[in-house]
Amino acid sequence: MADIYLYNSLSRQKELFAPLKAPDVGMYACGPTVYDYQHIGNMRRYVGDDTLKRVLALNGFKVKHVMNVTDVGHLTSDADTGEDKLEKSAAEKGKSAAEIARFFEEQFFSSTDALNVIRPDILCRATEHVSEQIELIKKIEENGFTYLTDDGVYFDTTKLKDYGRLAGGKEGIKPGVRVDIAGKKNPTDFALWKFSPKDSKRQMEWDSPWGTGFPGWHIECSAMSMKYLGETFDIHTGGVDHVAVHHTNEIAQSEAATGKAPVKYWVHYEFLQVDGAKMAKSLGNTYTVTDVEKKGFDPLALRYLFLSAHYRDSLNFTWESLQAAQNALEKLRSAVAALKDEKTRTALSSEKDAKTQTFREEFVKSVNDDINTASALAVVWQMLKSNIPSEDKYDLAIAFDEVLGLGLAKATVGKVEIPGKVQELLDKRNQLREQGKFEEADGVRKEIEEAGFVLEDSSQGTKIKPR
Ligand code: AMP
Ligand code: ZN
Repeated sequence: MADIYLYNSLSRQKELFAPLKAPDVGMYACGPTVYDYQHIGNMRRYVGDDTLKRVLALNGFKVKHVMNVTDVGHLTSDADTGEDKLEKSAAEKGKSAAEIARFFEEQFFSSTDALNVIRPDILCRATEHVSEQIELIKKIEENGFTYLTDDGVYFDTTKLKDYGRLAGGKEGIKPGVRVDIAGKKNPTDFALWKFSPKDSKRQMEWDSPWGTGFPGWHIECSAMSMKYLGETFDIHTGGVDHVAVHHTNEIAQSEAATGKAPVKYWVHYEFLQVDGAKMAKSLGNTYTVTDVEKKGFDPLALRYLFLSAHYRDSLNFTWESLQAAQNALEKLRSAVAALKDEKTRTALSSEKDAKTQTFREEFVKSVNDDINTASALAVVWQMLKSNIPSEDKYDLAIAFDEVLGLGLAKATVGKVEIPGKVQELLDKRNQLREQGKFEEADGVRKEIEEAGFVLEDSSQGTKIKPR
């Protein structure tokens, strides 16, 4: 097993990865909030988890990947207005909060599936673990870290030695909520349990020893990670925005309850930007995987784009950079497909030459160096351009794709990858033409062209190719 080095946000340095009980690795990922569509910024973070998981598997580790779904609306989910987005979305759409949550959870998975992200081993929804959250709050209360206000049960951050060490001490910490709460003792204190507002029409509320209400946001991750991975586990992941508040508070809660540090390695992904600003729902500058597909791009071109940058560097998204990633991916696929063709025609050599082994080692060294996928992609291209035997090139490309997840094994010579949406349009156009509805069929042709494909009709049928 080769050494893996991972940057740990807690120590602020790359560390040799040594899990608590090798070869098992427990990994907890902060999952989606499901009141709206997940955008491609969010996707960068999930492709990051997926790549990390694949690198660990490549090195022989057995990963247990747990991910939560935040399906409880939180009154503080909008720091400026204190508005509860899930309950608001449900009221606006005339649906139950649970229906809204499930709808967006499905949208989330259809996006991650399109990006070849392997699903977590355990998916845990906050609403299905309220009793675990109440039990954990009781422990924190018994240990003397809480106080009551008219608003709920609060965590007293001054009671914990070292509060905020993940965020780099007191200066790094941001108060989680800007909404003023009467009775809150310190700006960084946060709610473990919130009471339902008087006369509220909240759909999501539960009884508790303190009164009817709902759990605070941070407690779900402490309670569920502890349930599925134990009081101390190996890796916890999330976006960089979680360092200063959410993960700082998760550490505080878990330590207050158990007296132990909950996590050995903290991994944080940098943001995807758009036009130099963070891509965020609140800024209205987001695109979804569906938007990407509608423009005629293969979702895996987005995965290629993510892999081309280091996960700790911010990445600026533009349609031009996505087009460049798609071109590179198509080139890679054709190269692999051509090798496959050759491989079936030539005798297999079982002897791997020394250079082949060097490429394998270089690839592993790159991904094991804090998941340096940009350098790993460079190794892939060097390998393809080298003079090692074609069958070795093919075998290496397929082995590397276990980490890259670009679907290279499926690549075939000369075959154009047609996105699902474009295929649907193509079928619709064929149907309309069969029914003699040529004007409508022409309208659909335009939509196909807008999606980046051209059609050529002939007596043999219709050919489609990228524009
Ligand atoms: P949310 O559903 O808003 O809680 O976000 C889900 C995950 O996506 C969190 O781990 C965030 O840190 C992460 N995230 C949000 N916006 C971005 C972005 N622009 N780039 C990368 N990750 C993001
Ligand atoms: Zn979390």
